[in-house]
Amino acid sequence: MPLARSAIVRIAGYTPGEQPRDRRYVKLNTNENPYPPSARVAAALRSFDPARLRLYSDPLATDLRRAAAQPLGLGPEWAIAGNGSDDLLTIAVRTFVDQGGALAYAEPSYSLYPVLADIQGAAHVPIALDARFDPPADTAAQAARARASLLILCRPNAPTGNACARESLEAICHDFPGVVWIDEAYADFADDNCLDFVQRFPNVVVSRTFSKSYSLAGLRLGLAFAHPDLIAEMMKVKDSYNLDMLTQALGLAALEDRDAMLSNVQRIRATRGRLVAALEAMGFAVPPSQANFILARPPRAIAAGALFRDLRERGYLVRYFDLDRVRDYIRITIGTDEEMDGFVQAVGAILRQTGG
Ligand SMILES: *Cc1c(COP(=O)(O)O)cnc(C)c1O
Repeated sequence: MPLARSAIVRIAGYTPGEQPRDRRYVKLNTNENPYPPSARVAAALRSFDPARLRLYSDPLATDLRRAAAQPLGLGPEWAIAGNGSDDLLTIAVRTFVDQGGALAYAEPSYSLYPVLADIQGAAHVPIALDARFDPPADTAAQAARARASLLILCRPNAPTGNACARESLEAICHDFPGVVWIDEAYADFADDNCLDFVQRFPNVVVSRTFSKSYSLAGLRLGLAFAHPDLIAEMMKVKDSYNLDMLTQALGLAALEDRDAMLSNVQRIRATRGRLVAALEAMGFAVPPSQANFILARPPRAIAAGALFRDLRERGYLVRYFDLDRVRDYIRITIGTDEEMDGFVQAVGAILRQTGG
């Protein structure tokens, strides 16, 4: 008899993007930010007194939650902080989905969602995105019919980069009887967002991460916003001290310098435009992206999987998903202008080699 629960023994678990150690790559595979975080974060790190670590961190992360909710004109009771937004997604599934219940999520989207359903012992309710990778009009009906209690949608979506119309998400939030979780990991790179939904819908949660726009993937910090009734339930489920003291201090420093984040975002958006133009000129098809990555389908001369391997040999690491609907594409994180110039040259050299 296996020692672990059979539901766990059966599953493969989540596969994160590689953090390779064999050589130096230009890392364009996990949507990290190519620019460093705010100088305020560096200053807060230097002035942090290690003697403070003797004590436990604030279990409620109140200062951080207050600072996060304040620009929305809301109090800390509208926010919960997590050890990365992945921690918040785990908390969400444990809070809103029964064992033997059902979790609905878009497909293709972030591949962690179905893994969380497996761990909870819940059924999968994948909802196929339409040809433009937007949620179909009957998303809420599909999820409700399958008795899902939680519906997770990602906007801008990963790994496709598109942001569906706000109005269509609004209709889904209105129609779905359970909790709608809007994963806004990439919203800072987009033209608009859905944060205002949390004040208009008692069943909507919007999550954010410091890993992408704030250049703090290694720190592990995420936030979710929702009506205080939903936040209060999630607070019961989280680990007591899910945020360490250093993360709370550095996260506060990052929030105090939103301008540094926004200026990095502006640079990345400009680079994104240049990269899309360069790839389209080489025959790639690129669905419109509102994120810090793009999905790109190479011209007929080379398959996406082969291009991924050739790029890797040349020192450029991108992401390839051998999954329905995205296996003809590679996903490229937006780096600095210099990195992307080198990347475009490498792609050009590979295409010439294959006669493309
Ligand atoms: C990166 C990412 C996250 C996780 O962010 P962390 O805060 O680093 O855990 C969540 N959702 C999506 C869609 C992401 O791409």
